[in-house]
Amino acid sequence: MIETRALRFSYNGREVLRGIDFKAKSGEFVAILGPNGAGKSTLVKCLSGILRCGGVRILGRPVEDYSQRELARTVAYVPQSAERSFMTVFDTVLLGRKPYMSLTPSRKDLETVEAVLKRLGIEHLALKRTNEISGGELQKVGIARALAQETEILIMDEPTNNLDLKSQLEVMRLAREFSEKGLSVVVMHDVNLALRFAGRFVFMKNGKIVADGGREILKPSLFREVYGVDVAIEEVRGVPLVVPL
Ligand code: ADP
Repeated sequence: MIETRALRFSYNGREVLRGIDFKAKSGEFVAILGPNGAGKSTLVKCLSGILRCGGVRILGRPVEDYSQRELARTVAYVPQSAERSFMTVFDTVLLGRKPYMSLTPSRKDLETVEAVLKRLGIEHLALKRTNEISGGELQKVGIARALAQETEILIMDEPTNNLDLKSQLEVMRLAREFSEKGLSVVVMHDVNLALRFAGRFVFMKNGKIVADGGREILKPSLFREVYGVDVAIEEVRGVPLVVPL
C-alpha cells in the first residue's frame, strides 16, 4: 500500500536518499532504524507526502495525484516535535478531523476527538493550551491528532521521544494495535523498544536501506555495520535484547 522505487531525494543538491526501494502493506508494523543523518526522517516525510519526492505510490497511486484532503484521509504523519500554540488541546486534535469537516464539526468529529483523547489518556488536558503542557503531553497531542484523521496509514517520527517509560509502552502498543488494521511506520532510536513491538525492521545508513526484514536479520555484524558498535544480542522472555558492549 506504500511503495517507493529507486527513490532519490536531495536537499540543495546534496543527495540524502540514494535509491530507496521500500514496500509495506496493511497489517505491518515497520520500524525504521539507523544512525543520525541516515535519511530516516526524510524518507518518512517522502512516504507521507510532506516532501514531494517523486516515485512514492500510496494505495497504488502516485502521491502527487492525491488532493491534500484525500491524502490527509489516507496518511497521518506525526512529526518529531509538534508545534505549540494558543490553541487548546481539544481544538488541536480537532484539526485532525479537517479532511472530513465542512464548516463546522459534526457530532462524529467531536466524538472522535473525545475518543482519541481518552485513548491517549489526555482527556484531562482538553482545555489546556498546547503552550501550557509538557513535551511528553504535546507528543501525545500530536499522536491523538493523527489518530483523529482515521487513516489507513500511520507514520510517526520518533514517537517515543520525550515520553516516560509507561507512555513509551502505550504509544508502541497503540502503533501495534493500529497495524492490526492498517500500516504503522515508525522511526525509532530505541532499538530495543522497536524490537519488542515492531514486526519488521528497516535499517538505513547514508541514504540507503542496508537491511530489511524480521528478527532473523538482527545480528551483531549488522549493528557493527550500521552503528559502528559491538553488541551482544540476548534473549529475555522471548524478546531479543540488544546490549552495546
Ligand atoms: P535521520 O532522520 O536519519 O537523522 P534526516 O533525514 O533527518 O536523517 O537527514 C538526512 C540528511 O539530510 C542529514 O545529513 C541532514 O543534515 C540533511 N537534512 C535534513 N533536513 C534537511 C533540510 N531541511 N535541509 C537540508 N538538509 C537537511
